[in-house]
Amino acid sequence: MADHDATDWRDKLWTAHAPLFEGGLPFASGIGTLPVGWRELVESLCSRLAATGRVRVLRLENDRAALNVAWKTTSPHGVIEAEAGEIVARATARSACTCETCGLTASRYRTGFWMFAACPMHQRRGSVEIAPNWPTIRTTRAFVEGRSRIVACEVYDRGLDRFVAASPAVLGIKGSP
Ligand SMILES: [Zn+2]
Repeated sequence: MADHDATDWRDKLWTAHAPLFEGGLPFASGIGTLPVGWRELVESLCSRLAATGRVRVLRLENDRAALNVAWKTTSPHGVIEAEAGEIVARATARSACTCETCGLTASRYRTGFWMFAACPMHQRRGSVEIAPNWPTIRTTRAFVEGRSRIVACEVYDRGLDRFVAASPAVLGIKGSP
């Protein structure tokens, strides 16, 4: 991956949100893997988590074209944990539909074992779209007649920046895996 912008916005992010990353090391956090197209969503994630005043971020990385965030609260607090969990879920879903190069609406693709999120303009020839785009989907399971089945489904709406109810069939989820 081309890392021509390796020393700018991520360094600033690390410094601006020092309390969030307290005790960590930039190279160990994975922050160096974050593409410039995700800058806005990553900055917004960090601001939202910082506003809770009780969260530490341990990892923040691009994991197969979706943001992976490992975090913990500084002290047990159910409400903050639920709030931070939702903030992180929205940022992860947003990354999976945001072009790594330019930040526009994207799908996830793969070329061999390499995955990336790209808009139509930055999609690479010969790549295959990954569908369903799982990081943008949230499912609720329940035991129905003794088998675990998807009983409710939500998809991340990029315009609204939240999850909305959706039908599994529309998202390309076949049956109830
Ligand atoms: Zn793009």
